[in-house]
Amino acid sequence: MTNLGTDQNPLLVAIVGSGPSGFYAAEALIKSEVKVKVDVLERLPSPFGLVRSGVAPDHQKLKQAIKLYEKIAESTDFNLIANVTVGTDISVKELRDAYHAIIFTCGAESDRKLGVPGEDLKGSYTATEFVGWYNGHPDYRDREFDLSHDIAVIIGQGNVAADVSRILSKTIDELKHTDIAQHALDALAESKIKEIHVIGRRGPAQAKFTPKELREFGELSDCEPVVLEQDLLLNPESEKELEEKSNISSKKIYDLFCEFSKREPDTAKSKKCFFSFLMSPKELIGDTTLERIIFEKNKLSGESFKQSARGTGETIELETGILFRSIGYRGIPVEGVPFNESWGTIPNDKGRVTDSENNVVDQLYTAGWIKRGPSGIIGTNRACSVETVECLIQDLEKLNSSTKKSGAKAIYSKLDIKSIRHINFEDWKKVDTSEIELGEVKDKPREKYTSIHEMLSVIK
Ligand code: NAP
Repeated sequence: MTNLGTDQNPLLVAIVGSGPSGFYAAEALIKSEVKVKVDVLERLPSPFGLVRSGVAPDHQKLKQAIKLYEKIAESTDFNLIANVTVGTDISVKELRDAYHAIIFTCGAESDRKLGVPGEDLKGSYTATEFVGWYNGHPDYRDREFDLSHDIAVIIGQGNVAADVSRILSKTIDELKHTDIAQHALDALAESKIKEIHVIGRRGPAQAKFTPKELREFGELSDCEPVVLEQDLLLNPESEKELEEKSNISSKKIYDLFCEFSKREPDTAKSKKCFFSFLMSPKELIGDTTLERIIFEKNKLSGESFKQSARGTGETIELETGILFRSIGYRGIPVEGVPFNESWGTIPNDKGRVTDSENNVVDQLYTAGWIKRGPSGIIGTNRACSVETVECLIQDLEKLNSSTKKSGAKAIYSKLDIKSIRHINFEDWKKVDTSEIELGEVKDKPREKYTSIHEMLSVIK
């Protein structure tokens, strides 16, 4: 057989998931020295993962990454097979039969649990649901959030918590020219929320926001950021953390909190966003619906950069009917692929999938959040995907198979037998164009189709 990775015998790779890490993996493969054919499988009819349905609608600049993904998709070696769920419509075994290698870039679609009583009361939501809802993700478009309360609580101090609290803090005028889903804009227009409490289990020196995201709270048209000066006292370990040059982002965050604490409150603003620290929820109280949260006050323990929150036994209560748990995402397992339940990731060695005995599993690779956990910005995934693709290319000889691989052809015939409709990139562009046209009328970048059915009917 001709050497693998040549025009006569291209390396056939399936990528599962069309978010940033999927596109960066496709880019690295296409730019590599070997001849490849890449098929990207996607569960929804729409590509781009969290860039479409995670990045906040008022952060349009971050969505510019899509321009690069569109360029990658123009390659004749790239093919999108969307509206197809791996594990349900196509099995991992079928992918292994059809391709030389498979890269799982399916992200972290689920949430970490708080693990406290009352977590599942009505009124206690995950940030994922809310983010998916305002971004028009088909899985979440029918969710309802009771925004009739005065006080909303967000647990967690990462950038997702920043997104959720900023969307709750903004006026409709600040949101209406973004690509926020219309149903969310309508519901937010009726919101009665006046106080937003963003609560961290550790201190102000450990908050995980990035400075740009936190700074925006000082620039909101009708919401004032509030930080109490007494909450900004640091223990010696935290002071040491902030002195560290490599920890410049945390220092900037801390300085912003200091700036907020000294602000002359603008009484004309109707909303307040409080940032509080060293508190963990102990219990969510309510009959069937959330009524109040009991928090335990924490103190930090451990050496610098390894400090953890320890309960002090002292509790405080906050009355609220709406809570968003924004404490990090976790991946969900795919049948036929090893999974680390504790981490919510696919176990791997630099992107080569490994089994429970740490042995490399032939043909299987992973990149992005499902490989390393939910951390970093969009661009972080590029280096992560490049690392995986480098390993894959190193394994070229091992991936050469004596049985012929048929790639997309084999997959299409399986899907046709099951009457599963699949969408290519050209089909998607029809949806894209239509969304942009719908948005133009409202002076929005786009009005998203929020159901799979709607998207498919645009493609016809
Ligand atoms: P994150 O940055 O890891 O923040 C999670 C937060 O939840 C932390 O404050 C963490 O506190 C807290 N937490 C975890 N477990 C907890 C528990 N049991 N009880 C109370 N608090 C708990 O995660 P994320 O906000 O979901 O963001 C994920 C990634 O996406 C991050 O890398 C983020 O920067 C990125 N992102 C970027 C943007 C942007 O660039 N604009 C927007 C959104 C997301 P500890 O520190 O104590 O663990």
